[in-house]
Amino acid sequence: MNILITGGAGFIGSHLCRKLLDRGNSVICADNFITGAKENIREFLDNSGFKLIEHDISTPFYIEENLDWVMHFASIASPKDYLSHPIKTLKSGLLGTHNCLGLAKAKKAKFFLASTSEIYGDPLIHPQPEEYWGNVSCTGPRSCYDESKRAAESLTCAYMRQHNLDVRVVRIFNTFGPRMRINDGRVVSNFIIQALEQEDLTVYGKGTQTRSFCYVDDLTKGIVKMMEISRELPLNLGNPCEYKVIDLAETIIKLTGSRSKIKFLPLPEDDPKRRRPDISKARKILDWQPQVSLEEGLAKTIEYFKEKLQNGEKS
Ligand code: UDP
Repeated sequence: MNILITGGAGFIGSHLCRKLLDRGNSVICADNFITGAKENIREFLDNSGFKLIEHDISTPFYIEENLDWVMHFASIASPKDYLSHPIKTLKSGLLGTHNCLGLAKAKKAKFFLASTSEIYGDPLIHPQPEEYWGNVSCTGPRSCYDESKRAAESLTCAYMRQHNLDVRVVRIFNTFGPRMRINDGRVVSNFIIQALEQEDLTVYGKGTQTRSFCYVDDLTKGIVKMMEISRELPLNLGNPCEYKVIDLAETIIKLTGSRSKIKFLPLPEDDPKRRRPDISKARKILDWQPQVSLEEGLAKTIEYFKEKLQNGEKS
């Protein structure tokens, strides 16, 4: 198959490129390198099945090649980044999704949208099943990400209904692993770098807010399974084990053997208090569930960041 992955040089996008190339597909990666990195795709550049196009997907996009899939993974996805680039974030969710849908329609390709657990906002229902409509502020600081992804889902469904496009929507919960950016400001990367550099770990609020962390290999396996089934909208993919942020901090201190302590900082505005996916649907339809435990995944991620720091990359 010929597959276009937007955001293919990003954290999740590059793992997906690897998985789809390994399965014998041709992959075209489109990325504007705002948060993606050449380093993430360097290993594929010599692969004859891989092509890189440097392009900002929020501007019109057309390619000559036939396509079987358009997979829209381009997005500024970390709170630190989307809070500093709210307009670019909205544009990739709104215009980028529209451009990708138009391309999929023109190529008679299937369309795959990377959506997010953020569409549930600060959820009032726990854990979050796909049927839950969410609790989202449409004007708050996180709205650039949440609302553009909600609109992206809506656009995707509109193309499905009006043009009978074959679409998939995955709602991705917190994911971690190698190729996360050293300074993307997310909790896992922040804590690991702080621990490795013997700095205090910055826990926001009291650290009682929860998240559920999925190792990236588990996630991409689920995404590939979603490509193999017939349409089922939307699907949560994530790890259902829920941790308090403070417990994550302590686990990372233990795993790195660090002398770091914990430092409490103010909780950001609209920070969701609890988040855990209900993955009953993915279990049933895809026969999928995460296999990698938090500690196992963290150990691999710690090794990755250790190497980055040894190579002189700075946080
Ligand atoms: N967080 C924290 N310290 C940090 C970074 C994040 O305590 O250095 C908290 C943040 O307030 C949130 C959780 O960790 O409650 C997850 O944050 P992240 O930015 O990774 O992603 P989110 O799930 O909020 O999109």
